[in-house]
Amino acid sequence: STPDAPKPGQLSEPRRTIDENAVVVAASDINKSFDEVQVLKNVSLTVSRGETVSIIGPSGSGKTTFIRTLNGLEIPDSGHITLNGEVSFHRSPNQQSDKGQLPRADQIKNIGMVFQQFNLFPHKTVLQNVTLGPQYHGFGSAKQLELEALAVLDKVGMADHAYKYPHQLSGGQQQRVAIARALAMKPSIMLFDEPTSALDPELVGEVLRNIEDLAREGMTMIIVTHEMAFSRRISDRVVFMEEGAIVHSGSPVEIFEHCDEPRVTRFLKDFK
Ligand code: ADP
Repeated sequence: STPDAPKPGQLSEPRRTIDENAVVVAASDINKSFDEVQVLKNVSLTVSRGETVSIIGPSGSGKTTFIRTLNGLEIPDSGHITLNGEVSFHRSPNQQSDKGQLPRADQIKNIGMVFQQFNLFPHKTVLQNVTLGPQYHGFGSAKQLELEALAVLDKVGMADHAYKYPHQLSGGQQQRVAIARALAMKPSIMLFDEPTSALDPELVGEVLRNIEDLAREGMTMIIVTHEMAFSRRISDRVVFMEEGAIVHSGSPVEIFEHCDEPRVTRFLKDFK
């Protein structure tokens, strides 16, 4: 095949480019315990600009906890995290727990996050939900931010609903607004934590399509998901976690077709 042909299992044209010299997030040796139970064991992951990485694995394996450490929603017991080349968190294993550095707010705002439960503000309109973050951070005048918000809402097909309240929307629509809200901050990476798990099956597709569009445009993303076909389709790299550790990673083809790691094949068998 020609060098330019899309690899099987990857997006066809237009193909984004991954800049391996531009590391957006690098996490190394992340450890985290809850109540004496170690839920993350030396987890390390590096994501380059333009790359889409999905994290799969059994429930309770630490996927959510791991991505929450990247934006400071969980504080690791030890580990090292850089964002856009700057240290955002560092705590060595023998450091007293109260001496750890908290992730820096000015860096965290470069990370967009979409949760399983959409977490929109119920008493604010769609538009207000989207402008709130950029307004808080002083990204522009009210008028300018409103125009930008309408543009990101348009991107996820929700501009027509700008003056509605969350309860007037379906779950799928609320999640698309949540995606727009994260995008409005112009993040350098988007984290998705099982973005379709709370949705009725018929609403899953519209949300996955929004995320797929972002992948195609070259947004850097980490996606925790149970949607295997989706993961296969959009990922540059798939990471498999089990019992708090990354036990395997590779291209979608390597993971979904040619993997002979028993823990991965056992897990994937349940989705066939
Ligand atoms: P996954 O996303 O792979 O399903 P999680 O990261 O949600 O896994 O959870 C990993 C483990 O950590 C689970 O055993 C879960 O019960 C536990 N856990 C997660 N958050 C907390 C918390 N805030 N307090 C105590 N235990 C937690």
